[in-house]
Amino acid sequence: MSRRKKIYEGKAKILYEGPEPGTLVQYFKDDATAFNAEKHAVIEGKGVLNNRLSEFFMQGLTAIGVPNHFIRRLNMREQLIRAVEIIPLEVVVRNIAAGSISKRLGIEEGTQLPRPIVEFYYKDDALGDPLVSEEHIIAFNWATQQDMDDMVALALRVNDFLSGVMLGAGIRLVDFKIEIGRVYEGDFQRLIVADEISPDSCRLWDIKTGAKLDKDVFRQDLGDLADAYTEVASRLGLIPKNGSGSSRPKLVN
Ligand code: UDP
Repeated sequence: MSRRKKIYEGKAKILYEGPEPGTLVQYFKDDATAFNAEKHAVIEGKGVLNNRLSEFFMQGLTAIGVPNHFIRRLNMREQLIRAVEIIPLEVVVRNIAAGSISKRLGIEEGTQLPRPIVEFYYKDDALGDPLVSEEHIIAFNWATQQDMDDMVALALRVNDFLSGVMLGAGIRLVDFKIEIGRVYEGDFQRLIVADEISPDSCRLWDIKTGAKLDKDVFRQDLGDLADAYTEVASRLGLIPKNGSGSSRPKLVN
């Protein structure tokens, strides 16, 4: 297959031109970055795991009617997605205090929040993705009031879905980040979930032990990141249970 035109390269993924108009190929790299790319490593197998995990979560969302960009997986590292116009915001939903909310508001990590909290961060690496309010978003025209309402509704549906799926796997969904894009259909536009849903962009804690099964393992040097992601994939039934012999991910359909 001849190499496609590269549209964009980010820290963990590459986007290539898709086979049909309105599509893109999303390639998952093994690179892990944290602290605004100050910390970087290549973690063998991470891209394969995230490709499969994101497919699994997006397909689940499709099954319950939450629109998203996923079309189909192409191979171990690539999936076909709908091209969207990304809204320049990171939408974070939090169930339990951790990370930046704990620091900013002095809430002890692990504290259950009174209800899911939706936050918006402006996507700008040079500024370190600052927290922004609805006022900023509307005044600077990053999204409309209607978009805001739609984004909150989408984010909360994703939260309910992911929380339930994780609970079934003995994992607590502490928080996560999604990105949302616009698609145009005739005279109408609508918002759909885009980018990826994977342990790179979630906090996942084992319900029994509290062990971290997400990118904090890399951020905080808590062990092998691929082992943590393999554990998540295995609990969700996406790869054979541990102890099957091979140390690196083997996909099952
Ligand atoms: N997150 C992300 N990308 C970012 C920033 C945050 O995927 O650029 C995710 C992060 O993994 C966590 C949630 O969003 O699941 C909330 O992150 P937080 O604001 O606590 O920031 P952190 O402390 O991780 O920098």
